[in-house]
Amino acid sequence: MQVEPIAHIRTCYGEKFGIPRQPGLVEEAWGRIEFTPDYAVQDALRGLEGFSHLWLIFWFHQAAETTWKPTVRPPRLGGNQRVGVFSSRSPFRPNPLGLSVVAIDRIEEVDSGSVIHVKGVDLVDGTPVLDIKPYIPYSDAYPEAESGYVTGIPPKLTVKWMVERPEARLARLIEMTLANDPRPAYQKDSARTYGCMIENVNVSWRANEGEIQITGLEVLDIDRHTIKGN
Ligand code: SAH
Repeated sequence: MQVEPIAHIRTCYGEKFGIPRQPGLVEEAWGRIEFTPDYAVQDALRGLEGFSHLWLIFWFHQAAETTWKPTVRPPRLGGNQRVGVFSSRSPFRPNPLGLSVVAIDRIEEVDSGSVIHVKGVDLVDGTPVLDIKPYIPYSDAYPEAESGYVTGIPPKLTVKWMVERPEARLARLIEMTLANDPRPAYQKDSARTYGCMIENVNVSWRANEGEIQITGLEVLDIDRHTIKGN
């Protein structure tokens, strides 16, 4: 078997820490699917404009070097209970394949082919995409399905700015992202300052009694993350 990326996705998340744990949790979380030259064929996307969502099958490239274990500790179980890797969505798997449903924002034609702008991503910037398929509600959605230890949508925390807010769009992206409480399940330390890279800013924050406080914003001088959201 041999697979190769058909595309790479640029996203608002510059590093793994802080990324939502599933797609759709942060609607504002944008991504841009850019095809590799061999697959930048407009015809390959014909008809996709009629769909609102698509499946992404991707390579967890930042986990691929880690050896997998039969059991993992999902954040949903507080990080101290183990379930089988195949009962989890953990990136650390025998074949590090990820699966996410994202919303199609628009399809743009550029000189190098088509770019699919998507929303609601849970992927780190630069993730290799192996396949794209349309989301088909009659077959892909089971609203009444049982989900074992994964009970409902995780609660959101309130987010407070202790520093000056950036422009509204970026402020909202940061707030919505942090509201999901990115802290590792086993680490709920109010003295600790965390950092995550969202677009071209390093956001410092801490968590105090169920409230996230943003304590610092450092604008980074890097092109890679200054890509404008869609
Ligand atoms: N929806 C996917 C991913 C769930 S895990 C699935 O079910 O397969 C989501 C986490 O994967 C994110 O919180 C982020 O920390 C991590 N992640 C995202 N992109 C990654 C990548 N390219 N390599 C390794 N980990 C990644």
